Amino acid sequence: MMPFDYQRAESIGAAAGLARDARNARFIAGGTNLLDLMKLEIETPQMLIDISRLPLDTIEEADDGRLRIGALVTNADLAADHRVRRDYPVLSRALLAGASGQLRNKATTAGNLLQRTRCYYFYNPAMPCNKREPGSGCGALEGHNRIHAILGASEHCIATHPSDMAVAMMALEAEVEILGGGTQRTIALEQFYRLPGNTPHIETVLEPGDLITAVVLPAPIPGRHSYRKVRDRASYAFALTSIAAIVDFDGTTIRDIRLAFGGLAPMPWRDRDIEDLLRGKAPSDALWDQAADTLLADARGYGENDFKLALARRTLAAVLDQACSGGR
Ligand SMILES: Cc1cc2nc3c(=O)[nH]c(=O)nc-3n(C[C@H](O)[C@H](O)[C@H](O)COP(=O)(O)OP(=O)(O)OC[C@H]3O[C@@H](n4cnc5c(N)ncnc54)[C@H](O)[C@@H]3O)c2cc1C
Ligand code: SF4
Repeated sequence: MMPFDYQRAESIGAAAGLARDARNARFIAGGTNLLDLMKLEIETPQMLIDISRLPLDTIEEADDGRLRIGALVTNADLAADHRVRRDYPVLSRALLAGASGQLRNKATTAGNLLQRTRCYYFYNPAMPCNKREPGSGCGALEGHNRIHAILGASEHCIATHPSDMAVAMMALEAEVEILGGGTQRTIALEQFYRLPGNTPHIETVLEPGDLITAVVLPAPIPGRHSYRKVRDRASYAFALTSIAAIVDFDGTTIRDIRLAFGGLAPMPWRDRDIEDLLRGKAPSDALWDQAADTLLADARGYGENDFKLALARRTLAAVLDQACSGGR
C-alpha cells in the first residue's frame, strides 16, 4: 500500500474543507471497498479523510413524508429500520440481498453508492483497463466478460455497477444531497451516475472533494415492492441481474409501475418506456415479452455474457408474474 496522510474530520464542514484543500484526497467511511482498492494500489490517495464519526448516521422523517437517510447510516441499520421495512420494503430487501451481515454492519449508504465495479480486469493492475488507467484499453471486451454489461456500455468499458441498494433507490427515485465548494446541492439519483462513453474513469457527477451528506427517499409509493437478485450463489455474491419493482396492480390491470435493473449496465438502469408500456395493461405472457423486447432493444452481449439477454428476459417475466399474482 502506498503511504498516505490521515485526518479524522471533526465536523461536516471540516471534512468538506479538508477535501477541497488537499490534493488527491479520499473520504473513508466503512472502508470495505476503498481499503481493498488501496491494498491493490488501484486507489492511491495522498490523504484519507476519516468521516466515520461525523453526525451523518441518522434516518429522519420529513413533514412531507420523505425519508432522509444520513450518508453514514450503515446498510444493516437501514435494512432494519422499521420505516424502511414498512414503507420501502424494496430497499430493505435489496440491502439484505447484498454482501454479508458483517459487511453490512460496516458498509454505509454513500459508500455503497460509490463502490467501484467488480470487473476482474479493473482489480488486476497487470491488465489493461480504461477505468483504472485511461487509454490503456479494455481487457474485458474480448476477454472474460461473463459478469459484464449488456446495456449502456461503450467500446471503452463494459463494466457493471455492483450495488444492490442503488437499484432499489433508482426505482424509488431517490435524491442525493451533496456538499461541495461550500454549497449544498441535491441531485436525482437518475442524474448521479455517468455512462462510460469514452471516459469510463468518470463514474458520477461528483466533483473532487464533494461530500455526500444524505440520500432522500420520496414519500411512500403504493404498490407491491419486490427485489429479485439472480446470482451464482445464494449469498455473498454480486448480481448477474437484479430487478427492483414497485407494482400497483388492482387485480385486473397494472395501475402504476416502477422498475430498475441491476447487473446489466454500468449504472442502475431505469427505462421508462417499459413502464409506459405496462401501465394500464392486464398481465399476459405476450405483454411480458413486449416489455423484455423494450428493455433489450439496444442490448448486446460480448461473448461470455450473452446469457444475460435470456436471463434478463426470464427474470423480468418472473418478477411481473409474481407482482400480479399475489406472490412475494
Ligand atoms: C466480499 C464483498 C461482497 C460484497 N457483496 C456486495 C453485494 O452483493 N451487493 C452490494 O451492493 N455490495 C456488495 N459489496 C460492496 C459493499 O456493499 C461496499 O463495499 C460498501 O457498501 C461500501 O461502503 P463503505 O462505507 O465501506 O465505503 P468505503 O469503502 O469507505 O468508500 C467507498 C467509496 O465511497 C467514497 N465515500 C464514502 N462515503 C462518502 C461520502 N459521504 N461522500 C463522498 N464519498 C464517499 C469513498 O471515498 C470511496 O471512494 C461487497 C463487498 C465485499 C468486500
Ligand atoms: S470493462 Fe471497464 S473496468 Fe473492466 S477492463 Fe474494461 S475498462 Fe476496465
